[in-house]
Parts: sequence; structure tokens; C-alpha cells
Amino acid sequence: MKNRIAETIIDIPADNHAAINAAARAAVAWGIENAPARQLSRAEFKNWFGISVNAMSGKLDGVPAVGSSQAESAGCQALAADPDKICSHCYAAALLALRAGLSKNLQRNGRILRAAEIPAIYWPDLRADMVRVESFSDCQSVTMATNYCHLADAQTGRVGVWTKFPGWYDAAFKIRGGKPANMSIGISSAYLNQQAAALPTWADFVFTVYDLQTAAADRVAITCGGRKCRECRVCYNADHTRGGVTVVNELLKSQQLSARAHVRRVYKQVLVLQARRERLAAAEMAADRKESKRCARLVKNSAEKLQRMASNEITAACLRMATAGVIKLDAYVDLQTVFNEIGKQVVA
Ligand code: SF4
Repeated sequence: MKNRIAETIIDIPADNHAAINAAARAAVAWGIENAPARQLSRAEFKNWFGISVNAMSGKLDGVPAVGSSQAESAGCQALAADPDKICSHCYAAALLALRAGLSKNLQRNGRILRAAEIPAIYWPDLRADMVRVESFSDCQSVTMATNYCHLADAQTGRVGVWTKFPGWYDAAFKIRGGKPANMSIGISSAYLNQQAAALPTWADFVFTVYDLQTAAADRVAITCGGRKCRECRVCYNADHTRGGVTVVNELLKSQQLSARAHVRRVYKQVLVLQARRERLAAAEMAADRKESKRCARLVKNSAEKLQRMASNEITAACLRMATAGVIKLDAYVDLQTVFNEIGKQVVA
């Protein structure tokens, strides 16, 4: 038996909020009436209540996620319309425009979760050591925040939450008497290059996105980048009661590729320098004075160019990120060789 009301909720026009909310409540009421009164499996939860769990890829590879779509979040849309806010660079909008099936599932989730509370007893254990809440949008109501608390309560692993709307969670935590112990919740800074100033007392981490120019000029430590969350875990393990609020900084996604390209360019210059040295050595062995002189000049030019590149503050920032492992390099880029040539003090 499938929850037909939940399935067809997506057919209601997005601006008919009254009809969507009524259908969401009817869908959850139907689930309560028909589902067995116990913790459901992930598939059962979808059948009885219409909520999809998303298998993620890329940075979130191996981390199941529950969430909604930014296309139907009034808060996300308002932030995205402001060019000074980080949401004007929203990667989720671009991705969801290409993935109709995923987009529909997230919209259905959002319509149900923001309007109707699914009782705690039914929420599935996703049997994962890490679960992500809202990877394509943000919380839209106190009911939705309450649902995510139920999700967390059902998990044995850690649950990571990012939000620019702490008020919804604040209200939900007050109603239930605190946040779930396994929930790490972070405040996403609304502005590019500017860490959120006022943090709720329950915030475990604060997450800010920087562009390359600012990160380089202000020597901001970029601590999140091309790594996989399952290997890193910094945000998911953050706990303000142990060591205070964790500060996490990310490089603007659209600049992560160019950061790698900066490092590759330095490495290429190292290879050029080494090849020129070899030609110089061969010319000296052959006692070819003319060629030796020419090669010595090329080696000198190459070494000077390399030092100029390494001293450039943006390239130095990219090398720092590569050293810290927060931008992922191709396996053939040998950072140790780069540092041997430029001297590590350039990027210290
Ligand atoms: S810091 Fe680590 S856990 Fe946090 S978002 Fe970045 S990769 Fe994921």
C-alpha cells in the first residue's frame, strides 16, 4: 500500500500553499492510520509517509541525506535574490535544474515536512555513521525542525545540520527541551567573506565561504574544500560543549578548480626548471660552452619565474590549501617536489 496523497502532493501548484498544507496533513494522517506502530525501514518510511532519503555523491559520497528543495524555500529564494549573500552563488539551484527526479523528491519532502509532524516512533534508523540534513535547501518551519530532531533521535550515527535560519531550530529545541545529543548543528554565514556574528548558544560550528582573493589577502585558513565529509567529519563531530564553536571555512566552489590550476601551474614550472637543469648538465658534460651559457640563462629565468609565482599571495594561498589537503590535487602533482624547489617558508 502506498501513500497516494503524499505521491500526488507534488501535482498541486507551488503557490497554492493552503492546498499543499492540507494535503501534507492528510498524507501524514493517512500514514499514521495505516503504518505499523514501530520504527520503519527507509523503504517503508517512503511508502507510508512519502519521505525520500537521498543517496549523495561527490563531497557527501556515502552520507545519506534528508531534505527539501531550495526552489520551494521562501527563505532560500529571498537570500538568493540578494547579490551580497552567498546564496546568490547557490550550487543546489544549478544542480537541481539538471536532475528532475531528485528535484521532485525534494519538493515532495519539503511540502510534507514543513507542514506536518511525523511522530518520532516512525522515523527510520538510516544505519549510517553520518547523516546530513538539508543539503539542497534549509529549514522552513518549526514543524520541519521538529521532524529533523525526530530524524536525529532515530539515528545511531551523527547528524549534521547547516542552517541560515536558526530561529526555527531554536523554537523546536525549546519545545523539546534541547537539541538531540547526536546532532551537530552549524550556522552557515549568509555573507561571502564574513563570518556570522551572532551565534545561538547551541551552535556547534560556524561555516563561512570565502573567495580566493579574500582568503589569500587576509590569510584565512580554508579548512573545508575538496575532501569527502566521511573522511573529514569535522562538522559532524563538532560539539560546542567540548571545546566551543568550531570555525569552518570553505573556498567558493566555483574557485576550487582554479585553486587546483594555480598549484598545477607551479608544479609545471618546477618540471620545466628541472628539465632545463638537465640540459645544462648535459651541455657542460659535452663541454659545449655556447649551449652551456644558453642553458644557464634559461635555468636562471626559470628559477626566478618560479620564485615569483610562489611569492604571489593567491598562489601561496592555494599551496597552503593543497598542503592542508583541503583542495584535492591530481595524483601526479608532487607537492614535495614543489616545496623542495621553492622552499617551504614561502607558504608557511
Ligand atoms: S569541513 Fe569536513 S565535514 Fe565539514 S563540510 Fe567540509 S569536508 Fe565536510
